[in-house]
Amino acid sequence: MGRRETIKALEVIGLSEVYLKTKIEKETDKAGLLKKLFESFKDCSKCSLYRSRRQVVFGDGNPYSPVAFVGEAPGEEEDVQGKPFVGRAGKYLNRKLEEILNMKREQVYITNVCKCRPPANRKPTSVEIATCLPYLRQELQIIKPKVICCLGSTAAEGILGKKLSITRLRGQLFSYPYDQKIKVFFTYHPAYILRNPRSEAEFVEDLEKLKELIGQS
Ligand code: SF4
Repeated sequence: MGRRETIKALEVIGLSEVYLKTKIEKETDKAGLLKKLFESFKDCSKCSLYRSRRQVVFGDGNPYSPVAFVGEAPGEEEDVQGKPFVGRAGKYLNRKLEEILNMKREQVYITNVCKCRPPANRKPTSVEIATCLPYLRQELQIIKPKVICCLGSTAAEGILGKKLSITRLRGQLFSYPYDQKIKVFFTYHPAYILRNPRSEAEFVEDLEKLKELIGQS
């Protein structure tokens, strides 16, 4: 029985509103779905990063955002607070979001490829990235943003499934391999810009392009 016929049949017994409310809630409760996903892996020990972490750091922000930023992995501050991008690089990103995209941090969705902090903030290995990737894929499937913005080469490796130089990828637009309707955009990781301020102009240029892509005025 189709949706229309189901509603008609339920109208007869006075239950159509209940049906519609349940269906709408089911279709739009992204926060609830994200919570369930997080609950399913918050004690994960599938890769060696579980040994040194304080806690699993899941994505944060507006699940209805047109853009989902994907970084590398939590750092020390993120590991303590249990939220992504809350350290120096995160604060810098927040400033740029407000200056260029006219968006506050709470208006966008931010997450990482690896959900646990690597020891001494080293780059996650390809095995660690691949092991953690199913969580990110499920997360992005729930968010379904217009654009996934990869911050740095580790995010690009996770999303595209191969190692490519971020210098060559930056500013380009690809289709997300798991959902062709979603576009993937690339720029530097904000921590890289803090270490290499001479690349800030390129970072700003990329964010201006991203602003156009998501139709943010
Ligand atoms: S990094 Fe990912 S796969 Fe590894 S332990 Fe943490 S949640 Fe599990």
